[in-house]
Amino acid sequence: MKTNSNRRTFLTNSAKASLTVGLLGTGITDLFGKESPLAFSTKYTQQPLAYGYGALEPHIDAQTMEIHYTKHAASYANNLRDAAKEEGVDTTQPLEQMLSNISKYSTKMRNNGGGHYNHELFWSILGPPAGSGPEGTLLNAIEASFGSYEAFVSQFETAAKTRFGSGWAWLLVEASGKLVVSSTPNQDNPLMDIAEVKGTPILGLDVWEHAYYLRYQNRRPDYVTAFWKVVNWKAVADRFAAAKK
Ligand code: MN
Repeated sequence: MKTNSNRRTFLTNSAKASLTVGLLGTGITDLFGKESPLAFSTKYTQQPLAYGYGALEPHIDAQTMEIHYTKHAASYANNLRDAAKEEGVDTTQPLEQMLSNISKYSTKMRNNGGGHYNHELFWSILGPPAGSGPEGTLLNAIEASFGSYEAFVSQFETAAKTRFGSGWAWLLVEASGKLVVSSTPNQDNPLMDIAEVKGTPILGLDVWEHAYYLRYQNRRPDYVTAFWKVVNWKAVADRFAAAKK
């Protein structure tokens, strides 16, 4: 039997080998395996919001939050459970595992599984305006990957503003451990085996019009800029720590 240490070495080498041939997906399932549960494993049902609908005012308004959580996100969760029943998915297993094999399932599963996961992540990394940025290990990693915090913000904002139509902007940890920015269409996300850039998302921004239209109308850039005022960087740092384990 291999020792834990050998297993780690093996996984590290596997990740390096995957990088060499451009296949970044192999490490993702390990992150969510039974041996190393991610602290933020998302269930197949909506979790309660940790703050009130008005807590993000004036940057994200209460009416948008209420409709977004109780209508849009609720329907992704309901439709996901339907799809899981129809396609025989074991919903006691982490949602992340199914998403990492999403190419084997229907479009309904892809849209609603992604939709549910993405919103659960989104609610978790938002919070009342706190006026602080990333600190410590996460800030160091952002600086190592992007050069500076400002350079990261600029890259992320560009990803969010230029995503055509509906989708998401992401900060994610690749299998190599590097932080990168990406964007995905519709309700896709970096966990999915069909994603162009794969890894563990630790920060996401919903740029569907339903996320901002009541307050910002067509001014998506203003919504993207306001987003930074309501990021819960402690939650992002916790996700980062969990993703690195
Ligand atoms: Mn949304």
